[in-house]
Amino acid sequence: MKRLVSPAATSPAVAAAMRGNKAKGTRPELTVRAVTFSLGYRYRLHDRRLPGKPDLVFPRLRKVVFVHGCFWHQHKNKRCPLVSTPRKNYAYWKPKLERNVDRHVRQRKLLRSHGWKTKVIWECQTRDRQALTRQLIRYLES
Ligand SMILES: [Zn+2]
Repeated sequence: MKRLVSPAATSPAVAAAMRGNKAKGTRPELTVRAVTFSLGYRYRLHDRRLPGKPDLVFPRLRKVVFVHGCFWHQHKNKRCPLVSTPRKNYAYWKPKLERNVDRHVRQRKLLRSHGWKTKVIWECQTRDRQALTRQLIRYLES
């Protein structure tokens, strides 16, 4: 796993945001796994052979799920309570976050061009378990 170390990551909130998004097995990811498992689906985790190492991979369905931290992937939703652009060190974060978003767009395109369906579950969407369950059923059964 690539570790991002920077002097800008000194504020606890920022450090937590980084951990929450770069580390595997975070709470939002565990929630998505638990719900998916309880629906009877089995999956692979972080398949390195696929672009972007999707968090959950359903090989027979040819579908993947990414669980995205709202800060790290800049959730574009006005109602998202978790995304924020850090005012401190803005010049430092802006290009990093933009690169992150761009990289993910490229990875998803690549996956789609290889016949995979992709879905992003945002961190803030994992807080409502019922809504999350409905969302996952809709995606996995379609
Ligand atoms: Zn969000």
